[in-house]
Amino acid sequence: MFNIVVCIKQVPMVTELPWDEKTGTLKREAAAGMMNPACKHAIEAALQLRELYGASITVMTMGPPSAEEVLREAIAMGANRGVLICDRLLAGSDTYATSFALGRAVKKEIPDHDLILCGAYTSDSETAQVGPQLAEELNIPAAAYAEHIDISGRTMRVRRLVDNFRETLEMDFPALVTVSMERYKPRYVSFAGLSRSFDGADIRELNAQDLGMMSADLDACGSRTRVRRVFIRKTAKENVRITGAAAVAAAEFLDRYQRSISAVIGRAIEAKKQI
Ligand SMILES: Cc1cc2nc3c(=O)[nH]c(=O)nc-3n(C[C@H](O)[C@H](O)[C@H](O)COP(=O)(O)OP(=O)(O)OC[C@H]3O[C@@H](n4cnc5c(N)ncnc54)[C@H](O)[C@@H]3O)c2cc1C
Repeated sequence: MFNIVVCIKQVPMVTELPWDEKTGTLKREAAAGMMNPACKHAIEAALQLRELYGASITVMTMGPPSAEEVLREAIAMGANRGVLICDRLLAGSDTYATSFALGRAVKKEIPDHDLILCGAYTSDSETAQVGPQLAEELNIPAAAYAEHIDISGRTMRVRRLVDNFRETLEMDFPALVTVSMERYKPRYVSFAGLSRSFDGADIRELNAQDLGMMSADLDACGSRTRVRRVFIRKTAKENVRITGAAAVAAAEFLDRYQRSISAVIGRAIEAKKQI
């Protein structure tokens, strides 16, 4: 059986959350949770691949107990089973620790995985690091921002948009792909799916100990980053009216433009003045 794992994350249902200034963490409890939008595209890609080639789909999330809701939603969309990684020891994990725990869970629960799908990024932290880091953890090849996936035997073709051109990569299984938001539009949940997600849904819960992660281990495989300070950047807008002869006004405009861009990028730029 072809085994697909889809990693999904529960995110707050708002665009801006208050910060805890002392700990530098988000006050996630201040808003209800929902499935990260990009993760729905990854589930849709898995469902379409299963329709074409046959597969078993396991959805996996690491989060607080409430994250089970996104597993049920994924099962309602059509996933076969869910895995919830939940432990207070793992709270506050950065992207490295998140990928490490996901990697351990994949190795333990689905050792014969063929394809791991992730969303491209999340709506709350948006680092886009977890997918590639998980591939590194599992020592498998990865491709990011896939628009289309084709499978032929033990090989997969992944089309992705890179800057201004498209490229197609060929990869052997097992492999990891992060799915772009442009394609694989998520399907609606059916009533049958909804009832399947509640009646006897196969959801397994794992804690840090199940993954062989003790509190002492977390020094080695836990978060590598510390939030030292959190602040809201203050920006001020100013309307400037440039008057005078066209050539003089255009030159002044270019001067101002150069100065403000140089301040942002940290080096001087040379704009051509051919007026
Ligand atoms: C320096 C730093 C410090 C942080 N400190 C804290 C903290 O103290 N407390 C805290 O709550 N958060 C903290 N975070 C946020 C936390 O690291 C992220 O929520 C988490 O690691 C996922 O990263 P991301 O949201 O950027 O995911 P991305 O890399 O943008 O996500 C891409 C994809 O990876 C998968 N994925 C991501 N997260 C999960 C998950 N949990 N389960 C399953 N799949 C997943 C999904 O498929 C998702 O679509 C910190 C982040 C950084 C960078």
